[in-house]
Amino acid sequence: MTDPAGALVLFSGGQDSTVCLAWALDRYERVETVGFDYGQRHSVELQARGAVRERITDRFPAWAPRLGEDHVLEMRGFGAVAASALTADRAIEMTDKGLPSTFVPGRNLVFLAYAAALADRRGLKSLVGGMCETDFSGYPDCRRETLDAMERALNLGMAQDFRVETPLMRITKADIWALAQGLGGEALVELILEESHTCYQGVRDVRHPWGYGCGTCPACELRARGWEGWVAQNRPTLRAASGS
Ligand code: ZN
Repeated sequence: MTDPAGALVLFSGGQDSTVCLAWALDRYERVETVGFDYGQRHSVELQARGAVRERITDRFPAWAPRLGEDHVLEMRGFGAVAASALTADRAIEMTDKGLPSTFVPGRNLVFLAYAAALADRRGLKSLVGGMCETDFSGYPDCRRETLDAMERALNLGMAQDFRVETPLMRITKADIWALAQGLGGEALVELILEESHTCYQGVRDVRHPWGYGCGTCPACELRARGWEGWVAQNRPTLRAASGS
């Protein structure tokens, strides 16, 4: 049985938010997606969104009728305020707060406020995001404690009863691949490898076993480690096939 409440997925076109989209399509009768254009250096991320959605429609007939509108919200003003390595030409390094310079202060809080306003207008009750406490990035706005407080603030401030759902919160990057396989089988794993985009450098012309990317930025390293962990634990046949 699917939930008629409806969900809005914060969808960047990356691995994590693609798995979140599949998770929501598995549960909700109506699912819409929202992306944020805050002046990312690489529009490749926003292009991946369209490709992932298109392929879900083609390959997953049970999910296709549930997949509703896509929304892209222009937030370049926020990007300018929060200028960091993601949005400006600065090297990725650790700051004196122990956070990577890729951290955009309060990004998920701002995204959720915009997403909630949109969900209110669209009549959707669940906000689904790929925030994760176990990816070692230490982003304080990815913690469940932060999101619980945000959920309460949104519901008080908008007189709503939203749920902020984070299906990846306490699982490892390796387990995210396992979750994808559980939700959509090999077809979903293949879709994530081919169409989702995670690399901070926007590289799309180098294909690794775990997908496309430069292979050296923190996002690629995290994705590669997760893939290797999953292959080592759960995919002995594939490991043999790839010869590693
Ligand atoms: Zn990369």
